Amino acid sequence: MIDFGYSLSKSRTLRIDNLDDSRFKALHKLEPDAYKCIGCGSCTASCSAGVFTELSLRKILLSMQRGDEKEYLNQLQSCMLCGKCMLVCPRGINTRHLILSICKICSIEK
Ligand code: SF4
Ligand code: SF4
Repeated sequence: MIDFGYSLSKSRTLRIDNLDDSRFKALHKLEPDAYKCIGCGSCTASCSAGVFTELSLRKILLSMQRGDEKEYLNQLQSCMLCGKCMLVCPRGINTRHLILSICKICSIEK
């Protein structure tokens, strides 16, 4: 098979009836702006830590909405709280504060 340097993601099926987005709902109470995210990926593209690690705030937020965040949460250990992502977010989300709130809800030390 030809290697184009990228691949298609596996298709995913979400069962809305079984979806547990309780952590995202808890996050929304602390950070109403969490719903403003449009998943553009600017935060991930500009992330200093993302160059060397798997850290992707876009993926973390999306996975929390889908209730399957467990595999992504450990990425937050790489965040340096530099705030660069906050400067580029087109929705004006205080992503740095959002990350701290995610850590608080998910009991991740920062
Ligand atoms: S605050 Fe964290 S997620 Fe945002 S750019 Fe800095 S290291 Fe990346
Ligand atoms: S830059 Fe803002 S709107 Fe775009 S994915 Fe990141 S948090 Fe969401």
